[in-house]
Amino acid sequence: MEGMWHTVKNYFTEPNNPLQFCSHLCELNSYPDKNSNTEYGVDLDEDCMRIFSALGDVSRPPCTCNETQMLCDHIDAYIKTHPKHHSRDYTFHTDKGDTCIEEVCRYVMRDTLQWWAHWHGSIEGHRWKHLYMAFMTIFDEIAIPPQDVADGLFRFLGNSLAEVLEGLRLEGVHRDDLKLLEMYLWRQCIIQYLEKVDPAIREFLIGKTTLMTLWRVLTAGTHGVAVCILTSKGIRPQGQTNHALEMASTCDAISMDMGKEALSVLQDEPTETVAGKDREILKRELRWVYLRALGSLDQDPTGALLRRFATSGLHFVLLNDRYRERVAHVRFPMSPYLRRRIAAYYKNGSYS
Ligand SMILES: [Zn+2]
Repeated sequence: MEGMWHTVKNYFTEPNNPLQFCSHLCELNSYPDKNSNTEYGVDLDEDCMRIFSALGDVSRPPCTCNETQMLCDHIDAYIKTHPKHHSRDYTFHTDKGDTCIEEVCRYVMRDTLQWWAHWHGSIEGHRWKHLYMAFMTIFDEIAIPPQDVADGLFRFLGNSLAEVLEGLRLEGVHRDDLKLLEMYLWRQCIIQYLEKVDPAIREFLIGKTTLMTLWRVLTAGTHGVAVCILTSKGIRPQGQTNHALEMASTCDAISMDMGKEALSVLQDEPTETVAGKDREILKRELRWVYLRALGSLDQDPTGALLRRFATSGLHFVLLNDRYRERVAHVRFPMSPYLRRRIAAYYKNGSYS
Protein backbone atom coordinates (compact mmCIF):
# COMPACT_ATOMS: atom_id res chain seq x y z
CA MET A 1 0.00 0.00 0.00
CA GLU A 2 2.90 2.38 0.71
CA GLY A 3 4.04 2.17 -2.92
CA MET A 4 0.48 2.86 -4.14
CA TRP A 5 0.17 5.91 -1.88
CA HIS A 6 3.48 7.29 -3.23
CA THR A 7 2.27 6.76 -6.79
CA VAL A 8 -0.95 8.62 -5.98
CA LYS A 9 0.99 11.45 -4.33
CA ASN A 10 3.27 11.76 -7.36
CA TYR A 11 0.28 11.82 -9.72
CA PHE A 12 -1.93 14.35 -7.89
CA THR A 13 0.63 17.13 -7.59
CA GLU A 14 -1.78 20.03 -8.16
CA PRO A 15 -2.44 22.00 -6.07
CA ASN A 16 -0.10 20.49 -3.46
CA ASN A 17 -1.27 17.20 -2.01
CA PRO A 18 -3.60 14.40 -3.14
CA LEU A 19 -6.39 15.41 -0.73
CA GLN A 20 -6.45 19.10 -1.70
CA PHE A 21 -8.86 20.55 -4.27
CA CYS A 22 -7.86 23.13 -6.87
CA SER A 23 -10.81 25.35 -5.89
CA HIS A 24 -10.92 26.91 -2.47
CA LEU A 25 -14.33 25.71 -1.21
CA CYS A 26 -14.93 28.40 1.41
CA GLU A 27 -14.05 31.18 -1.04
CA LEU A 28 -16.29 30.16 -3.95
CA ASN A 29 -18.12 33.09 -5.52
CA SER A 30 -21.88 33.38 -5.79
CA TYR A 31 -23.49 34.00 -9.18
CA PRO A 32 -26.93 35.53 -8.59
CA ASP A 33 -27.88 35.58 -12.30
CA LYS A 34 -29.18 32.18 -13.40
CA ASN A 35 -28.33 30.86 -16.86
CA SER A 36 -29.88 28.09 -18.94
CA ASN A 37 -27.90 25.36 -17.12
CA THR A 38 -30.36 25.69 -14.26
CA GLU A 39 -32.93 23.98 -16.49
CA TYR A 40 -31.11 20.68 -15.75
CA GLY A 41 -31.29 18.64 -12.56
CA VAL A 42 -32.90 19.89 -9.36
CA ASP A 43 -32.68 23.63 -8.82
CA LEU A 44 -33.27 24.90 -5.28
CA ASP A 45 -31.74 28.31 -4.65
CA GLU A 46 -30.95 29.76 -1.24
CA ASP A 47 -34.42 31.22 -0.80
CA CYS A 48 -36.11 27.93 -1.84
CA MET A 49 -34.04 25.97 0.68
CA ARG A 50 -35.45 28.04 3.55
CA ILE A 51 -38.99 26.74 3.07
CA PHE A 52 -38.11 23.03 3.59
CA SER A 53 -37.84 21.70 7.15
CA ALA A 54 -35.30 19.16 5.83
CA LEU A 55 -33.12 22.05 4.60
CA GLY A 56 -32.94 25.65 5.85
CA ASP A 57 -30.70 28.68 5.59
CA VAL A 58 -26.97 28.82 4.88
CA SER A 59 -23.81 30.22 6.43
CA ARG A 60 -20.22 30.42 5.27
CA PRO A 61 -17.96 27.83 6.96
CA PRO A 62 -14.70 28.75 8.70
CA CYS A 63 -11.68 27.74 6.60
CA THR A 64 -10.33 24.27 7.33
CA CYS A 65 -9.41 23.53 3.70
CA ASN A 66 -5.65 23.65 4.24
CA GLU A 67 -5.72 21.07 7.00
CA THR A 68 -5.49 18.42 4.26
CA GLN A 69 -1.70 18.72 4.61
CA MET A 70 -1.81 17.60 8.27
CA LEU A 71 -4.07 14.73 7.27
CA CYS A 72 -1.66 13.71 4.50
CA ASP A 73 1.26 13.83 6.94
CA HIS A 74 -0.72 11.63 9.31
CA ILE A 75 -1.46 9.14 6.51
CA ASP A 76 2.23 9.12 5.50
CA ALA A 77 3.22 8.20 9.05
CA TYR A 78 0.41 5.66 9.51
CA ILE A 79 1.12 3.81 6.27
CA LYS A 80 4.79 3.34 7.19
CA THR A 81 3.84 1.28 10.25
CA HIS A 82 0.73 -0.43 8.87
CA PRO A 83 1.05 -4.24 9.06
CA LYS A 84 0.85 -6.29 5.85
CA HIS A 85 -2.28 -7.96 7.21
CA HIS A 86 -4.68 -6.17 9.53
CA SER A 87 -7.34 -7.76 11.75
CA ARG A 88 -10.00 -5.59 10.08
CA ASP A 89 -9.12 -6.66 6.52
CA TYR A 90 -12.24 -7.79 4.62
CA THR A 91 -14.61 -6.78 7.43
CA PHE A 92 -18.12 -5.66 6.42
CA HIS A 93 -19.24 -2.04 6.92
CA THR A 94 -22.76 -2.12 5.51
CA ASP A 95 -24.70 -2.52 8.79
CA LYS A 96 -27.18 -4.69 6.89
CA GLY A 97 -26.31 -8.09 8.34
CA ASP A 98 -24.05 -9.13 5.42
CA THR A 99 -21.87 -12.22 5.72
CA CYS A 100 -20.90 -13.04 2.11
CA ILE A 101 -18.51 -10.90 0.02
CA GLU A 102 -19.94 -12.12 -3.28
CA GLU A 103 -23.50 -11.27 -2.30
CA VAL A 104 -22.36 -7.78 -1.20
CA CYS A 105 -20.77 -7.40 -4.66
CA ARG A 106 -24.09 -8.28 -6.29
CA TYR A 107 -25.86 -5.67 -4.16
CA VAL A 108 -23.19 -3.12 -5.09
CA MET A 109 -23.80 -3.88 -8.76
CA ARG A 110 -27.49 -3.21 -8.14
CA ASP A 111 -26.66 0.09 -6.40
CA THR A 112 -24.43 1.13 -9.30
CA LEU A 113 -27.12 0.43 -11.88
CA GLN A 114 -29.69 2.35 -9.84
CA TRP A 115 -27.38 5.38 -9.56
CA TRP A 116 -26.52 5.23 -13.25
CA ALA A 117 -30.24 5.14 -14.08
CA HIS A 118 -30.58 8.54 -12.37
CA TRP A 119 -27.46 9.98 -13.99
CA HIS A 120 -27.77 8.59 -17.48
CA GLY A 121 -31.44 7.71 -17.96
CA SER A 122 -30.65 4.24 -19.37
CA ILE A 123 -28.78 1.17 -18.11
CA GLU A 124 -27.98 -0.18 -21.60
CA GLY A 125 -24.32 -0.35 -22.71
CA HIS A 126 -21.36 1.17 -20.84
CA ARG A 127 -20.63 -2.17 -19.17
CA TRP A 128 -17.10 -1.24 -18.11
CA LYS A 129 -18.12 2.15 -16.74
CA HIS A 130 -20.69 0.36 -14.60
CA LEU A 131 -18.05 -2.09 -13.36
CA TYR A 132 -15.60 0.77 -12.68
CA MET A 133 -18.21 2.51 -10.52
CA ALA A 134 -19.03 -0.77 -8.79
CA PHE A 135 -15.33 -1.10 -7.86
CA MET A 136 -15.55 2.37 -6.31
CA THR A 137 -18.60 1.40 -4.32
CA ILE A 138 -17.33 -1.90 -2.91
CA PHE A 139 -14.58 0.01 -1.03
CA ASP A 140 -17.33 1.66 1.01
CA GLU A 141 -18.80 -1.71 2.00
CA ILE A 142 -15.77 -3.90 2.75
CA ALA A 143 -12.29 -3.07 4.12
CA ILE A 144 -10.41 -4.34 1.06
CA PRO A 145 -6.61 -4.05 1.36
CA PRO A 146 -5.61 -1.65 -1.48
CA GLN A 147 -2.69 -3.82 -2.56
CA ASP A 148 -5.12 -6.68 -3.26
CA VAL A 149 -6.97 -4.40 -5.68
CA ALA A 150 -3.80 -3.31 -7.49
CA ASP A 151 -2.44 -6.89 -7.65
CA GLY A 152 -5.72 -8.32 -8.96
CA LEU A 153 -6.19 -10.58 -5.92
CA PHE A 154 -9.51 -8.88 -5.26
CA ARG A 155 -11.94 -9.40 -8.12
CA PHE A 156 -15.40 -7.92 -8.49
CA LEU A 157 -17.79 -10.55 -9.91
CA GLY A 158 -14.67 -12.21 -11.33
CA ASN A 159 -13.27 -9.03 -12.93
CA SER A 160 -9.90 -7.60 -11.88
CA LEU A 161 -9.26 -3.84 -11.90
CA ALA A 162 -6.83 -4.29 -14.82
CA GLU A 163 -9.57 -6.00 -16.83
CA VAL A 164 -12.02 -3.19 -16.06
CA LEU A 165 -9.49 -0.56 -17.18
CA GLU A 166 -8.85 -2.53 -20.38
CA GLY A 167 -12.63 -2.67 -20.92
CA LEU A 168 -12.84 1.11 -20.53
CA ARG A 169 -10.15 1.45 -23.20
CA LEU A 170 -12.30 -0.66 -25.51
CA GLU A 171 -15.26 1.65 -24.73
CA GLY A 172 -13.19 4.49 -26.16
CA VAL A 173 -11.78 6.11 -23.01
CA HIS A 174 -8.56 7.99 -23.88
CA ARG A 175 -5.38 6.59 -22.29
CA ASP A 176 -4.73 9.79 -20.30
CA ASP A 177 -8.28 9.65 -18.92
CA LEU A 178 -7.77 5.96 -18.10
CA LYS A 179 -4.73 6.91 -16.01
CA LEU A 180 -6.82 9.58 -14.28
CA LEU A 181 -9.57 7.02 -13.54
CA GLU A 182 -7.02 4.51 -12.26
CA MET A 183 -5.42 7.07 -9.93
CA TYR A 184 -8.81 8.27 -8.68
CA LEU A 185 -9.61 4.66 -7.83
CA TRP A 186 -6.29 4.01 -6.11
CA ARG A 187 -6.62 7.19 -4.04
CA GLN A 188 -10.18 6.30 -3.10
CA CYS A 189 -9.48 2.69 -2.15
CA ILE A 190 -6.54 3.75 0.05
CA ILE A 191 -8.49 6.38 1.98
CA GLN A 192 -11.62 4.23 2.23
CA TYR A 193 -9.49 1.45 3.68
CA LEU A 194 -7.65 3.78 6.08
CA GLU A 195 -10.94 5.22 7.30
CA LYS A 196 -11.91 1.68 8.34
CA VAL A 197 -8.65 0.64 10.03
CA ASP A 198 -7.36 3.94 11.48
CA PRO A 199 -9.84 5.60 13.89
CA ALA A 200 -7.55 8.64 14.28
CA ILE A 201 -8.60 9.93 10.84
CA ARG A 202 -12.10 10.64 12.09
CA GLU A 203 -10.70 12.92 14.78
CA PHE A 204 -9.11 15.13 12.12
CA LEU A 205 -12.42 15.64 10.34
CA ILE A 206 -15.08 16.05 13.01
CA GLY A 207 -16.80 19.44 13.07
CA LYS A 208 -14.77 20.87 10.14
CA THR A 209 -17.18 21.43 7.28
CA THR A 210 -14.83 22.05 4.36
CA LEU A 211 -12.18 19.50 5.39
CA MET A 212 -14.91 16.91 5.97
CA THR A 213 -16.44 17.75 2.58
CA LEU A 214 -13.13 17.27 0.75
CA TRP A 215 -12.70 13.92 2.49
CA ARG A 216 -16.29 12.83 1.83
CA VAL A 217 -16.04 13.69 -1.86
CA LEU A 218 -12.81 11.72 -2.20
CA THR A 219 -14.09 8.67 -0.28
CA ALA A 220 -17.30 8.73 -2.36
CA GLY A 221 -15.25 8.63 -5.56
CA THR A 222 -17.55 11.08 -7.32
CA HIS A 223 -14.75 12.50 -9.52
CA GLY A 224 -14.53 9.11 -11.27
CA VAL A 225 -18.28 9.04 -11.78
CA ALA A 226 -18.21 12.52 -13.35
CA VAL A 227 -15.53 11.31 -15.78
CA CYS A 228 -17.67 8.26 -16.66
CA ILE A 229 -20.67 10.51 -17.32
CA LEU A 230 -18.69 12.86 -19.57
CA THR A 231 -17.02 10.03 -21.51
CA SER A 232 -20.41 8.31 -21.97
CA LYS A 233 -21.39 11.44 -23.90
CA GLY A 234 -18.17 11.50 -25.91
CA ILE A 235 -16.67 14.41 -23.95
CA ARG A 236 -13.13 14.23 -22.57
CA PRO A 237 -12.47 15.61 -19.07
CA GLN A 238 -9.73 18.24 -18.85
CA GLY A 239 -7.46 16.34 -16.44
CA GLN A 240 -7.13 16.48 -12.68
CA THR A 241 -7.52 20.27 -12.47
CA ASN A 242 -10.88 20.30 -14.30
CA HIS A 243 -13.01 22.80 -12.35
CA ALA A 244 -16.41 21.47 -13.47
CA LEU A 245 -15.46 17.92 -12.39
CA GLU A 246 -14.51 19.18 -8.96
CA MET A 247 -17.69 21.23 -8.54
CA ALA A 248 -20.02 18.49 -9.84
CA SER A 249 -18.32 15.86 -7.64
CA THR A 250 -18.67 18.10 -4.60
CA CYS A 251 -22.33 18.81 -5.29
CA ASP A 252 -23.17 15.16 -5.88
CA ALA A 253 -21.66 14.16 -2.53
CA ILE A 254 -23.34 17.02 -0.63
CA SER A 255 -26.73 16.51 -2.32
CA MET A 256 -26.47 12.87 -1.22
CA ASP A 257 -25.76 13.96 2.35
CA MET A 258 -28.67 16.39 2.28
CA GLY A 259 -30.91 13.57 1.05
CA LYS A 260 -29.60 11.25 3.76
CA GLU A 261 -30.18 13.90 6.42
CA ALA A 262 -33.76 14.30 5.24
CA LEU A 263 -34.25 10.52 5.58
CA SER A 264 -32.23 10.43 8.85
CA VAL A 265 -30.06 7.70 7.30
CA LEU A 266 -26.81 9.01 8.69
CA GLN A 267 -27.80 10.07 12.21
CA ASP A 268 -25.29 8.80 14.76
CA GLU A 269 -23.33 6.74 12.23
CA PRO A 270 -19.54 7.06 12.31
CA THR A 271 -19.31 8.41 8.73
CA GLU A 272 -21.88 11.14 9.27
CA THR A 273 -20.77 14.39 7.62
CA VAL A 274 -22.31 16.71 10.15
CA ALA A 275 -21.14 14.80 13.23
CA GLY A 276 -19.63 17.20 15.75
CA LYS A 277 -20.52 20.02 18.03
CA ASP A 278 -23.53 21.62 16.41
CA ARG A 279 -25.29 19.69 13.67
CA GLU A 280 -27.48 22.60 12.61
CA ILE A 281 -24.55 24.96 12.08
CA LEU A 282 -22.62 22.30 10.16
CA LYS A 283 -25.60 21.56 7.93
CA ARG A 284 -26.00 25.28 7.21
CA GLU A 285 -22.35 25.44 6.19
CA LEU A 286 -22.71 22.39 4.00
CA ARG A 287 -25.61 24.04 2.13
CA TRP A 288 -23.48 27.17 1.64
CA VAL A 289 -20.75 25.10 -0.03
CA TYR A 290 -23.32 23.22 -2.12
CA LEU A 291 -25.00 26.37 -3.49
CA ARG A 292 -21.69 28.06 -4.29
CA ALA A 293 -20.28 24.92 -5.95
CA LEU A 294 -23.44 24.45 -8.01
CA GLY A 295 -23.42 28.12 -9.06
CA SER A 296 -19.80 27.72 -10.06
CA LEU A 297 -20.61 24.57 -12.06
CA ASP A 298 -23.31 26.53 -13.89
CA GLN A 299 -20.65 28.92 -15.22
CA ASP A 300 -18.90 26.04 -16.99
CA PRO A 301 -19.74 24.90 -20.54
CA THR A 302 -20.02 21.26 -19.34
CA GLY A 303 -22.34 22.33 -16.51
CA ALA A 304 -25.44 21.22 -18.43
CA LEU A 305 -24.01 17.68 -18.84
CA LEU A 306 -23.08 17.32 -15.19
CA ARG A 307 -25.90 19.14 -13.43
CA ARG A 308 -28.31 16.22 -13.21
CA PHE A 309 -25.52 14.20 -11.57
CA ALA A 310 -24.54 17.12 -9.30
CA THR A 311 -28.04 17.47 -7.85
CA SER A 312 -29.09 13.81 -7.96
CA GLY A 313 -28.71 13.03 -4.24
CA LEU A 314 -31.97 14.90 -3.78
CA HIS A 315 -33.82 12.09 -5.58
CA PHE A 316 -31.63 8.94 -5.60
CA VAL A 317 -31.52 8.75 -1.80
CA LEU A 318 -35.31 8.51 -1.80
CA LEU A 319 -35.59 5.86 -4.53
CA ASN A 320 -32.49 3.66 -4.37
CA ASP A 321 -32.65 0.42 -2.42
CA ARG A 322 -29.23 1.15 -0.92
CA TYR A 323 -30.60 3.94 1.31
CA ARG A 324 -33.99 2.38 1.95
CA GLU A 325 -32.09 -0.64 3.28
CA ARG A 326 -30.04 1.65 5.52
CA VAL A 327 -33.20 2.89 7.17
CA ALA A 328 -34.35 -0.71 7.75
CA HIS A 329 -30.84 -2.16 8.52
CA VAL A 330 -31.66 -5.21 6.37
CA ARG A 331 -31.22 -6.27 2.75
CA PHE A 332 -34.19 -6.21 0.39
CA PRO A 333 -34.62 -9.27 -1.85
CA MET A 334 -33.76 -8.71 -5.52
CA SER A 335 -36.24 -9.66 -8.22
CA PRO A 336 -35.33 -12.45 -10.69
CA TYR A 337 -35.13 -9.78 -13.44
CA LEU A 338 -32.67 -7.67 -11.44
CA ARG A 339 -30.56 -10.76 -10.59
CA ARG A 340 -30.36 -11.60 -14.31
CA ARG A 341 -29.21 -8.05 -15.14
CA ILE A 342 -26.55 -8.30 -12.44
CA ALA A 343 -25.41 -11.77 -13.55
CA ALA A 344 -24.47 -10.28 -16.92
CA TYR A 345 -21.62 -8.39 -15.23
CA TYR A 346 -19.80 -11.56 -14.15
CA LYS A 347 -16.56 -12.08 -16.01
CA ASN A 348 -17.99 -15.09 -17.84
CA GLY A 349 -21.43 -13.47 -18.15
CA SER A 350 -23.30 -15.61 -15.61
CA TYR A 351 -23.22 -17.26 -12.22
CA SER A 352 -24.95 -20.33 -10.85
ZN1 LIG B 1 -11.02 27.40 3.01
